Amino acid sequence: MTPYWLKHFALAVVCLAFPAIVSSAEVSKSAPATEKTFRAPDGRSVHGRTGNVGRVTATIGKLRPLHQKLGKPKRGDWLDQHEEVGQTFRQYLQARPVTPIGQRTVIYVQPLGEFTKQQRQIVELSAEYLGIYMNRKVKILRDLPLSIIPQNARRIHPEWKVRQILSTYVLNGILKPRLPSDAAAYIAFTAIDLWPGRGWNFVFGQASLRNRVGVWSINRNGDPSKDDASFRLCLRRTLKTATHETGHMFSMPHCTAYECNMCGSNHREESDRHPLHLCPECHAKVIWATAAAPVARYQRLATFCQQHGLKDEQAYFKKAVAALSK
Ligand SMILES: [Zn+2]
Ligand SMILES: [Zn+2]
Repeated sequence: MTPYWLKHFALAVVCLAFPAIVSSAEVSKSAPATEKTFRAPDGRSVHGRTGNVGRVTATIGKLRPLHQKLGKPKRGDWLDQHEEVGQTFRQYLQARPVTPIGQRTVIYVQPLGEFTKQQRQIVELSAEYLGIYMNRKVKILRDLPLSIIPQNARRIHPEWKVRQILSTYVLNGILKPRLPSDAAAYIAFTAIDLWPGRGWNFVFGQASLRNRVGVWSINRNGDPSKDDASFRLCLRRTLKTATHETGHMFSMPHCTAYECNMCGSNHREESDRHPLHLCPECHAKVIWATAAAPVARYQRLATFCQQHGLKDEQAYFKKAVAALSK
């Protein structure tokens, strides 16, 4: 058993019908998206959003001065334990990523189980943030009860004695059969701890790189009811997981080049060390995949962070707006 490590990874899984919509956070003011088969830099044809590869590539050079390369991993960090090669924007285009094209216009958030009032607020704020981040309409679906999870997909952790549910069951048994046809992504959100199977202690979240389903837990993000600082910390951590997992759902692998939201995390300290924002290469992937207008998107993310007391994050987004506006 691997103590204390956050095992957080992305694996292949799949997806149904959908419950009634309780609320939605609509976002979208982007450049008009075009969609067709086009020629990637390596000469292969790729179907997806296009017309802006050159413009997106130009953002990489503008943002690069704001970013630091990832240093040598510390003992126990994700890259100390896992061999990963990373991926540039150019390589992403060549990898035929899953992108929110065609009728796949909505990100669905699926609450699973009970939440406290403050946790529920964080779920709603995360949905709003995701909408801006991914340039998509977000709909929060009616809660599903934990009673739909069978006994063989639950456990009490043998050492920590905490209740956990099997993340792979959530992906394959709950989300996969319910995947709405217009879902760009379908993401379960729970307050119960997750574990992904034999040999693992827990995961913060897990998502499929190809099948548009993912799950994450707020369980390890602190108690948001304690005070304002705890609420902000829980919000920051939850936004990081929400955007990281959704990035995986748009076929983005872990980042190995910069301090970046798409870096893998093996434990809490490492996850807290990684920023909420993306590096220039991963940013380019999101902008391209979602056809978002880069400056407007960062302005809106800055405003969100200002409204919710995330000062460092607001400062970064403002700097990025200035750099992109040059
Ligand atoms: Zn990950
Ligand atoms: Zn990155």
